[in-house]
Amino acid sequence: MALNRKITLNTGAQVDIVGLGTWLSQPDEVRKAVKYALQNGYRHLDCAYVYCNEDEVGQGIKESGVPREEIFITSKLWNTHHRKEYVKSAVKASLKALGVDYLDLYLVHWPVAFTNSGTPEETPTVPTLDYLIPKKDGKLQIDTVDPLETWSAMEELVQEGYVKAIGLSNYNIEKISNILKHCKIKPSMLQVELHPALLQTELVEFCHKHEIGVTAYSPLGNNVYGEERVVDDPVIVSIAKKLGKSPAQVCISFAAQRGIVVIPKSVTPSRIKENFQDFILDQQDFDAIVAALGTRNTRYNDPGTKDWNVKIF
Ligand code: NDP
Repeated sequence: MALNRKITLNTGAQVDIVGLGTWLSQPDEVRKAVKYALQNGYRHLDCAYVYCNEDEVGQGIKESGVPREEIFITSKLWNTHHRKEYVKSAVKASLKALGVDYLDLYLVHWPVAFTNSGTPEETPTVPTLDYLIPKKDGKLQIDTVDPLETWSAMEELVQEGYVKAIGLSNYNIEKISNILKHCKIKPSMLQVELHPALLQTELVEFCHKHEIGVTAYSPLGNNVYGEERVVDDPVIVSIAKKLGKSPAQVCISFAAQRGIVVIPKSVTPSRIKENFQDFILDQQDFDAIVAALGTRNTRYNDPGTKDWNVKIF
């Protein structure tokens, strides 16, 4: 059985269930990866201002020769841009770097705001680390911005044609509910960490009930802090072996067959291809993965606790 390769957003737009993640690549890698992915069938790219490589992604798009309108492009509003006066200059910076004139989806990246000591006009197209993580006397400068102020500025981006849809990332049920209660335009997507060791069952059910799509980031259980990865877990490896598939394909199918969009990152051509293949786990294998890993609740991406001294989850 083949995967249902698209999901429909609450705007009516369709998005490929497997997209390419673009975080954490060495200079020039992501340009080649994007070009290769687009030339080998991908039509969905996950980007962000904070990845500091949207210019390279843009070059890859251009070199691929694939028309802009065939590609679903997501980017994300960084924490230094939550005040309403910065939101438009932030999206304009991403658009300029990517070399496109609209985004298909724009997400508030984290429910945490940082102080911006510059002006909106000074927003760099490709930022430096000092700009992204503003510190004073070595201390991170946290700002208090009402999430509804940010959301209403996001809504204006839709109304003015900069972006086709808006959404959230790393928000929990309580924070999404606050947006739902006061919004004019509902979020179309929630992007969160999700893999066999972090099922996010309640959050996914909540989003689907409210017609908010869900995207799984770090779907292979990649661990940037260097601990174990889900793709190396013995249960995942043995199921993959039994099926003649790769552990990454098992993890990707595990999310996709729950109706969740998956954005594995790779800069390796063979893996980019492998991650895009159709494949469905049967119920028995799916259940075996849930039984073995599903109660672990392993969250690899928690910069709030690890770096920012802010409680997010
Ligand atoms: P992933 O779970 O996608 O894992 C990426 C890692 O797995 C890379 O080291 C990659 O190596 C390796 N890999 C890729 N394919 C395979 C394969 N078939 N077999 C074995 N290893 C493989 O982790 P990410 O954290 O990068 O998440 C994916 C994307 O999600 C990001 O790139 C980003 O776009 C988004 N994201 C969003 C966040 C948010 O806050 N909204 C936070 C984190 C990520 P290599 O590249 O060398 O092939």
